[in-house]
Amino acid sequence: MQIIPKLSRERLAALPPGTPLRIGRQLVTFNECRADTVFYTDQAGTPRQFAEAIICASATEHVESQMCDYCGKFRLPADLQLIVVEQYRGSKTHTVCKEGLCAYMLQMQKRTKPAPTMRGARGKTSWK
Ligand SMILES: [Zn+2]
Repeated sequence: MQIIPKLSRERLAALPPGTPLRIGRQLVTFNECRADTVFYTDQAGTPRQFAEAIICASATEHVESQMCDYCGKFRLPADLQLIVVEQYRGSKTHTVCKEGLCAYMLQMQKRTKPAPTMRGARGKTSWK
């Protein structure tokens, strides 16, 4: 199974403006990299910026790849599988690596009932 490389600082510095990039699940257009900040345009056409370190951890030039929902590595679609996980609030489809323990680990993680959060507490008051 192939691991798709993420962007390096060196590569970011050399990227020409207009290069398509994948950041997590989003496809964006690279504009420039300046003062440790990456400037890009998202799919809606909105200019955005992010710290270079964050982009290096979550972006790739290989826009055809997709990110595993568990380990966060980029893979080719052929190396990924879709799994349906039964969750606290219904089932959800996730993209995970075909090989390895990602599918298993994600299912274990998601099946655990989430701890109460502020958002959960607000949700409860709404049906009172
Ligand atoms: Zn994975």
